[in-house]
Amino acid sequence: MADLPGIVIVGASGRMGQMLAHTVNASDGARISGAVERKGHPWIGKDLGVAMGGQALGVTVTDDPLEPFATAQAIIDFTAPAATLEYAELAAQARIVHVIGTTGLTEQDIAKIDAAARHATIIRAGNMSLGVNLLVQLTRKVAEALDDEFDIEIIESHHNQKVDAPSGTALMLGQAAAEGRRVSLETAADRGRDGMTGKRRRGDIGFSAIRGGDIVGEHDVLFAAKGERIVLRHIATDRGIFARGALKAALWGIGRGPGAFDMTDVLGLA
Ligand code: NAD
Repeated sequence: MADLPGIVIVGASGRMGQMLAHTVNASDGARISGAVERKGHPWIGKDLGVAMGGQALGVTVTDDPLEPFATAQAIIDFTAPAATLEYAELAAQARIVHVIGTTGLTEQDIAKIDAAARHATIIRAGNMSLGVNLLVQLTRKVAEALDDEFDIEIIESHHNQKVDAPSGTALMLGQAAAEGRRVSLETAADRGRDGMTGKRRRGDIGFSAIRGGDIVGEHDVLFAAKGERIVLRHIATDRGIFARGALKAALWGIGRGPGAFDMTDVLGLA
């Protein structure tokens, strides 16, 4: 057990943090070597398994990342942008793999993460599932095949606790559609309509966000023209798909040189 790669879960009490704890704990290819939460969190000092309401795992939740990072091979981070930037620097200093699932990162945040990737192996994806990464490839292909007679809309639905919109996955899909069309997403994106918006601009890539209940994550890419529509759809019903993807990414990254990677690299879809 002790010779399995050690993984630190940051944001361990979160929806994804707990799913990761179950996934890594059940895996025969890795072990949980640390659990980190933000300062002042009620789980600090408690055993992770007990805090989750189950058996003790022998891993104490801490707010000091330095010690667990020093003895781990990888960290998996589904937290918040400010925390992820801090951990990117610390993981680079510790020369360990950093898997980033956090969404809502700005262009400046991503530039900082890319700078850290000069010294560290960083795998970042707005969605870690195989299905969504295939959907991204399909979206690029379909957008390439159709001209702007087809209006493209990305429609996403998530639970009512999600704090960013459009979702990281919707942005990945929008980026793929823009690449397929050979346009820049920055100029083509239409994010959020309200009031007298005027007609739809030809060639725009529209985004709509639905929030409610406990929806894990649903994404439609709609190509709508006169007389016909194509819809590419992915429905996530279980967060386990993201956790399994993140663990796969961590194991793929161990022993690899520095660089900024994503799930298309991990899944061999690049
Ligand atoms: P959540 O709010 O349930 O969990 C976030 C956790 O991070 C919380 O426990 C919080 O206390 C902790 N945290 C905040 N600051 C911290 C810090 N400085 N140090 C340590 N921990 C800290 O949210 P969630 O639903 O688990 O989602 C987390 C992130 O992952 C979001 O950005 C979400 O969009 C993203 N997400 C990505 C994917 C993917 O496949 N890439 C899938 C699901 C969710």
